[in-house]
Parts: sequence; structure tokens; C-alpha cells
Amino acid sequence: MAKSGLYVDVLLPLALPGAFTYHVDSGHAGRVEPGKRVIVQFGRRKYYSAIIYRVHYDEPKEYKTKPVQTVLDDQPVINSFQMRLWEWMAQYYMCTLGEVYKASLPSGLKLESETKVVYQPAFDEHAASLTEKEALILDVLKDENVLGLKELADKTGRKDVLPIVNSLMNKQALTVEEKLKDAYKPRKESFVKLNFGPEDEQMLNQTFKQLKNAPKQVEILMYLIKLLRNQGNDSDGFVPRQKLLKETSGGTSPLKGLIDKGVVIQEDREISRIGEGNHKQGGIKDLTSAQQEAYDQIQRGFEEKEVALLHGITSSGKTEIYIHLIREQLKKGNQVLYLLPEIALTSQIIHRLKAVFGEQVGVYHSKFPDNERVEVYQKLLNQHETDKFRVILGVRSSIFLPFSKLGLVIVDEEHENTYKQFDPAPRYHARDAAIMLARMHGAKTLLGTATPSIESYYNAKRGKYGLVELMTRYLDIQLPQILIGDILEAKKKKEMSSHFTPTLIENMDEALKNNEQIILFQNRRGFSPYMQCEQCGWIPECKHCDVSLTYHRRSNNLICHYCGYSVSVPQTCPACESQQIATRGFGTEKVEDEIPLFLPDARVKRMDLDSTRSRNAYENIIASFENHEIDILVGTQMVSKGLDFDNVSVVGILNADNMLNFPDFRAFERSYHLMAQVSGRAGRKKKQGRVVIQTSQPNHSIIKNVLENDFYGMYQSQLRERKEFMYPPYYRLVKILLKHRNREVLNDASELLKKELQKMFGYRVLGPQDPLIGRVQNYHLKHVIIKIEKEKSPSKSKELIRKITTKVQSSEKFKSLQVHYDVDPL
Ligand code: ADP
Ligand code: ZN
Ligand code: ZN
Repeated sequence: MAKSGLYVDVLLPLALPGAFTYHVDSGHAGRVEPGKRVIVQFGRRKYYSAIIYRVHYDEPKEYKTKPVQTVLDDQPVINSFQMRLWEWMAQYYMCTLGEVYKASLPSGLKLESETKVVYQPAFDEHAASLTEKEALILDVLKDENVLGLKELADKTGRKDVLPIVNSLMNKQALTVEEKLKDAYKPRKESFVKLNFGPEDEQMLNQTFKQLKNAPKQVEILMYLIKLLRNQGNDSDGFVPRQKLLKETSGGTSPLKGLIDKGVVIQEDREISRIGEGNHKQGGIKDLTSAQQEAYDQIQRGFEEKEVALLHGITSSGKTEIYIHLIREQLKKGNQVLYLLPEIALTSQIIHRLKAVFGEQVGVYHSKFPDNERVEVYQKLLNQHETDKFRVILGVRSSIFLPFSKLGLVIVDEEHENTYKQFDPAPRYHARDAAIMLARMHGAKTLLGTATPSIESYYNAKRGKYGLVELMTRYLDIQLPQILIGDILEAKKKKEMSSHFTPTLIENMDEALKNNEQIILFQNRRGFSPYMQCEQCGWIPECKHCDVSLTYHRRSNNLICHYCGYSVSVPQTCPACESQQIATRGFGTEKVEDEIPLFLPDARVKRMDLDSTRSRNAYENIIASFENHEIDILVGTQMVSKGLDFDNVSVVGILNADNMLNFPDFRAFERSYHLMAQVSGRAGRKKKQGRVVIQTSQPNHSIIKNVLENDFYGMYQSQLRERKEFMYPPYYRLVKILLKHRNREVLNDASELLKKELQKMFGYRVLGPQDPLIGRVQNYHLKHVIIKIEKEKSPSKSKELIRKITTKVQSSEKFKSLQVHYDVDPL
């Protein structure tokens, strides 16, 4: 019974619509406030930390309310900007506020009965004064090490464990368990040092004599001596090996010579987590006149418009322009959010920002441990107390951080599709949500890329966004030369070596001879996409999904890339008992394996989802490529992202056909982006690089666009098609995803839904379609797509779509039909 008459509506981290009302006992009445967390019971025995959405005196008439168990926070953890973003997101992306809540907070800030907590052995019980309850809970946890909150409640016989766990977490006695078991390990970096003091004249003379005929070794020696003299006494004399190689001309072999002679020593050291290393301060660079002009145009654009698009070719210095814009915001006391696509977040950019802004830079990344994400979150909540983390460098989910005074949002590589969240809801596009976030703060958004998305470029051309184009590279480094490796022709002449055309092999060969590096791009991982019986054509498929299994040679397994199901390769075909089962197509693993057949001395490494499960693995591969411990890097999309390697002279795109032939209205646009971005990795500083595109369609219009570096041509031809076939940017799409275990029921439901939708939307309803993969984890899938004219109110249309769908779902026959919405699907 509500004695005080005070109620709160709260959001639970669940996919249920709406807020739930609880009453507030007088003991808590003074402490409830929107944005604070409370513990409430939901369902029979489950407890959650919920967010207060509204405080009021309206007693619900239909049901009896439960009480708020406790109020967790003294200050709100969700501010009013965030709440507005949540509301916009739930409405625009057709999901619940609970789902947005769940996506927004790091795990440590949203406790529920299922949450597992871990004892922190480093915690000093005697130094911290624990309450009796806290001590009791910690004792139980200490014995078990890891426990779910529900078990913890059972074992201690207490119902109120959540708030106690929360306060223990604040005291750092425990943390929430991470799903990913790949805790960050520091990566190693090589350092080198002169083996004697720079004042040791005798040693110096002797060494120089010894090096009379080795000018490149002398150059390194001189460099090290100069550095030591400049650094003074407090330095230990070690220089990062990579830095030394960058700033001297000879490459790795003269350095090796010096190490072998004992003149220089090398040591591998752990460098601490990204962000805490030593960053030389002050490194802001003057803009070139072209960059300054672009900077001014951006500023002028911001005077009239909320968003500017910076279309700047690779190496034009976009990042330098961002740095100048960030500096200006910091001077005004504003916060800046710098968004990067998920897999592009590398130490390279972190170091560049830290070098200029030091402690003010915070990094927010999904692969960082949860307690670090909590720390960034809390620092931002208390931004008024600290100068730390005024610049947040982060991936998609960092739009959910508690910004209070945002002045600028930068969306780098804005065309990237990893900005879109696919699963679970909210299925949001971080670029579009970032523009909304900035608007709420009265801030500006800068979209930057070498290859704008059709949508953004269209918005810019129409004058909705400011448009700034920067078409000169820093120091006028030449754009790479692009060559075609014609697969069909090479096959006809029997000149293919496995998957390599003579053009690609010749160029690789030459690069290796010059001690230069190579990147090979193949957009499929695994050894080969699938296997097939040569007798009867049988193809092994996943038990749970309608998809062929991918062959992984290392493990000799067939693996489903959708659900992870794996089986060993069958000896004989189950259909015809033939033993001739062959591999078809090829993935990164196969490329890696085949290179030694014709380039036996090359050091090859693969970078894809399989080889970079942990954050370290990714960093390590990049570091060893930078250190030239690898000659050839073979990879998927990952290698196309904003990496800046000085010594890469050849980039090979192994198969452009499978990108171009993908059945999707964005396939051409995406192929152009990928090829142009991958090409940008070739030949950055010293000389013109080469790109070899292998294809059997050398006359394809997109290939031509790439060859001629003709972004605008690609844009115009795509725009014509989009208009003709009614796709974005002319129409908005809402995709309804339907799921059911029974195929018949699903077919009936999707047919009915289509009919009902057609009554309102007519020919603008597409489907029902079978997605590329028609069944995943034993659920059959169908899509229905609705196209909405740009002029129509999207919110009204969405409301209508939801109403019609709910009606179909509410019939008895379809009650276990699952429905998801994907707004602006990619
Ligand atoms: P983008 O982001 O457009 O690919 P970057 O900002 O990474 O280009 O610049 C490419 C390279 O050129 C970087 O190594 C960067 O440090 C250097 N560079 C760009 N502009 C300048 C400048 N004004 N002064 C010194 N170096 C610059
Ligand atoms: Zn067979
Ligand atoms: Zn599967």
C-alpha cells in the first residue's frame, strides 16, 4: 500500500514497452529523482536496477504497486540530454526505452538477478571500512569467487543484495563478470639503445672505424647519439625501435647489423594500456593552406548548418583538421565526441590525440574491461570536477555517455557500415544518432571520409549539410596507380597461380625485392567458403541455419559463421558415399596458406575476425606489421580501415567480383567504398603505390569508377538507380523481421502481414522475402520491407506499421511470432 502517495515510473533493462510504476515509502521519498537508479522487484523473484523516468502522485488504478526497494544513487546517472536521446531513439528505431537503457550503460551500472559478480583479490578489507552486511556478502563471494546475484541472495539469505553489491562495487571489492574472457594484456613493443654512453669517446671512435663501409649503420648510430644528447640525463636512452626505423632511411637490416655487432641493444618491453603510455605533449601541427581553407569552410558551414561533411581523400590530413577543431572546442570549455567505426579504433589515432590533448582524452571501447568503461562513464558524470576526458574517442556506443556540454561531434569514416547496430535492438545508426545528440546539445557534427555515403553526400549536395572537399594529399603524395588483374583472361591463358593473377604476383615480387610491404584484401574469412561433393554436388550445411558451413583448415572443421555450430569434415559424402569432397571458393586462411607456394620467403600474417578475437591480437598484428616483422598482411575489411603504414607499396584486392555480385541495393556503393579505402593504404609517404584489383568484370562501371578515382561518377549513377527503384536517399526503409520456429506458420503470418500492410502502403510493401540466410538457430526468417516517401511523416507511418503488425501478432495462431523492426536497414 502506498502510504506517502508518491510513485515512480521506472525503466527496466528489458524489451518490454513502457515504464513500470512502483510506490515510494516515506523512507526513500526525499531521494527519488529522474535519472537515479532504484532496485525493484519484477516478476516473481527477479530484481533489477531500474532508472527513474518520472516521479508523480498518480496512483495506478488497475493494479497494486510494489515498493521501491532502495535508491542506489545520490546523483542521477542519466542526465536529461540522455533521456531525450533515449526517447528519440526508441521512437525513431521502433524499440522500447528498456532496450535503449540496456544498450546505454556499461554492465557494472545495470545490476539484475542474473548479473554475475567476481571477487577482486586485490581488495584490502582492512583498509576499507565495510558495513556488517557488506562483510557478510563479501565473505560468501570470496569462497566462491564468482556468483550470480540470485545465488548470492540465496546463500546469504538476504533479499537486498543488489544495493550492497553496488556499494561493494563502488569500493572496488568486486566487479561484474565479463562475457568476453579476453581481458586486456599489455602489448609488447621493442626498444633499442646504444650499448655505451655517448661520452665514451674511445668506444665511439672504435665503432665509427668499424662502420667505415656501412653508411646506413652510421646513420642509425648518429641518430641514437643525437637523441641521447637531446634527451639529457633523466632518460634511460631507450627509443622505440619503430620510431628509429621511421626516422632513419635504411630499414631493418642495418639495425640488425648494429645489434649483431653489440653496438646497439634491443629490449622488448610491455607498454601499458593504450592511453596511459608516455605521450609527448604539444604535437599540434600547423595546417597547410589547403587544410586551413577546408577548416575555414567547415567553420563557415557551421554558422548556418548543424552538420558539415568533409570529403577529403586519404592522407589529405582530415585528422589534423579534426585536431584543430577539437582544440578550439576545448578552449571554449566544451566537450568533444570523436566517433570511429568499431574495428578502426587503433593505437595510432589514440596516440595522435593524446600527444596533443594528453589527459583530456578518454577512450571508450567495447573491448575494454567493463570497470574501465564504468570509470569513463562516471568521470563524465562528474565532469565539472575534472578536466579529464573532455575529448571522448569512442565507438558506436559512446553516444550514450553522459555528456553535459557537448560542443562538437566528429564522425570519422562516416560511410562505414559498422556504425549501424544490427542486433539486438536498438538497431541504431550511430552517425544519425550522433547528429541528433549534437542537436540536443546545440552542438555541431562533422562527418569525415574519403568516400562519403550516398545519403550524406546527397544531404550535402542538397544544401542540408555544409560540404567541404579537400582533394589534395598532404605533401602532394601521389595517389596509387591502379591496375587490373583480369581473372578470366589469366584463366584462359592458364596463367593463374591458385588465386593470383600474373599482374598481382609480379607486383608482389617486386615489392618484396625492394623490402616493401604488401596488403592483400579478401572479404571472406576461413579457408574456403564451403565444400562440395564432386560426384553428386552435395554441400555440407548447418543443422540450425540455412547456410553452408565454412571450411577451416587449421582445425579441420566445418563451422557455421552464423551460430558457431561446428563438425569435423566428413570422410565420405553422406549422399553418395564418394570420397571426393573438394573445397570451393576461398577465404583469408587459404590465401595465407597458398602464398608460400610461390613466394616462399615472404613472412605472411592474417588479420580477420578469427585471428583477432581479443583486442591484443589486433594491436599485436598491427604492431608487428609496423615493425616490419611481417611482409604480407592478408585480411578482411579490417585491413581497409584508417590504418597508416608507411612502407606498403602494393595492395591486392583478390576478388572484386564477390563484392559486386552481392544481391543488395548497396552492393555497388559498398564495393566502391571498400576498393577506394583499401587502395588508400598503398604508398603513403615515400613513393607512389600500386593497387591490383583482380576481377573477371574489368569493364564493370564500378571498377571503372575506382580506376579513375571517380567518386562523383559513382555517386551519380547510384543516385539514378536509387531514384528509379525507390531506395534511400529518396525513400526511407523500414524492414520488419519475422521469426518463428515453424516454417508454415511463418509463411502464413508474413503473407497476412503483407496483405494488411498493402491496404495502407500499397505497392510500397516489398516481400515477404527470404533473407540471404533463411534460418538461423532453428528460427525461420522472413522480411517485409516498407518504403516510405521522404515527404511523408516517418513517425506516423511507423505508428501505422506497428499497429498493423501488432494486430497480426495478436491472433492466437501467431502468438509466438517474433517481430523486430529495423529502421534504415543497411
Ligand atoms: P587523413 O586522415 O585525411 O587520411 P591524416 O590526417 O592521417 O590524413 O594525414 C596523413 C599524414 O600526413 C599523417 O601522418 C599526418 O601526420 C601528416 N600530416 C597531415 N597534415 C599535416 C600537417 N599540416 N603538418 C604535418 N603533418 C601532416
Ligand atoms: Zn556425393
Ligand atoms: Zn548455424
